[in-house]
Amino acid sequence: MVKRVFGTVLPSMALATSLVLGLSGCSEPDQEAQVEDNTKAKPQAGEIVVYSSRKEHLVKPLFDKFTAETGIKISYITDGEGPLMARLEAEGERTPADMLITVDAGNLWQAANIGLFQPVQSEVLEASVPEKFQDSENRWFGLSVRARTIVYSTERVKPEALSTYENLSTEDWDGRLCLRTSKKVYNQSLVATLIERHGPERTEQIVKGWVDNLATDVFPNDTALMEAIVAGQCDVGVVNTYYFGRLQKDNPEIPLALFWPNQQSSGVHVNISGAGITKHAKHPAQAKQLLEWLAQGEAQAMFGGLNMEYPVNPDVPVDELVKSWGEFKADDLNVEVAGRRQVEAIKLMDRAGYR
Ligand code: FE
Repeated sequence: MVKRVFGTVLPSMALATSLVLGLSGCSEPDQEAQVEDNTKAKPQAGEIVVYSSRKEHLVKPLFDKFTAETGIKISYITDGEGPLMARLEAEGERTPADMLITVDAGNLWQAANIGLFQPVQSEVLEASVPEKFQDSENRWFGLSVRARTIVYSTERVKPEALSTYENLSTEDWDGRLCLRTSKKVYNQSLVATLIERHGPERTEQIVKGWVDNLATDVFPNDTALMEAIVAGQCDVGVVNTYYFGRLQKDNPEIPLALFWPNQQSSGVHVNISGAGITKHAKHPAQAKQLLEWLAQGEAQAMFGGLNMEYPVNPDVPVDELVKSWGEFKADDLNVEVAGRRQVEAIKLMDRAGYR
């Protein structure tokens, strides 16, 4: 694979990295991560360069606003997290990138683990980003929160019948469950938290139960899964809230609803999108300024709101549509566990026959 960046052509990535990233599921195509080959500008001195696996329409309005307020220009490319992380690793010290923005703590943890980030000491970030949504070594910080929750058919399921992620493995849901592929990092992170809580044996039973209950093959993305519920192929599934929000925005009458599970126990599984400053950043001070700006105020509301997610900063108000889904108790685990237990989760899902 060869790709144009800033007018130059970069060679393909190191094989070793592809292996690591393949394991982490980063190369899985993501609806948020389509290639936007942005060859517009060669970075000027003092200009921040961002690699983003969040799509252009989710980051460009923020970058434009930051530039308008500070005069600091931003160049960026968007691509899948796998290719971006592989590129950063291949570029090493020569990288033009100052910041990597990506989704899921599992991915941010991987990026930190292979040495792509540098620690950032910032009182603003410490005050803005809750402890459980940042790296313990300050190499990455959450910027938005997404819940991975239960979605159900309002035509065939009474919400009283639902309770927990674990309960979806019981006979009540035999032939009624739809799941997205286990290759997606979102599901790896969910299973990682189950392992943290229940240990591997109990978690394997739960995941096997899910697999036994599947109505059909796993889906490539959350939207296709929800469309299958609407079509009557299955009755319940597990999805990220913003994908539900997109369908609901297009069709307010869609016969689906979200359910907040585990309210008497662990709470709803939450994850983040976030960012870190690259190890070889050429403009670390400006990049830190951007990161702090993104974690506060109107930028913070926009960062979450543009994708119908929750702001990571608890002082920032939630988008109105998102608010309409109701309040819930979220899991208190530090999201780092998603990275720490990712390999274990992948192996467990494989043993349980979750494809
Ligand atoms: Fe997503």
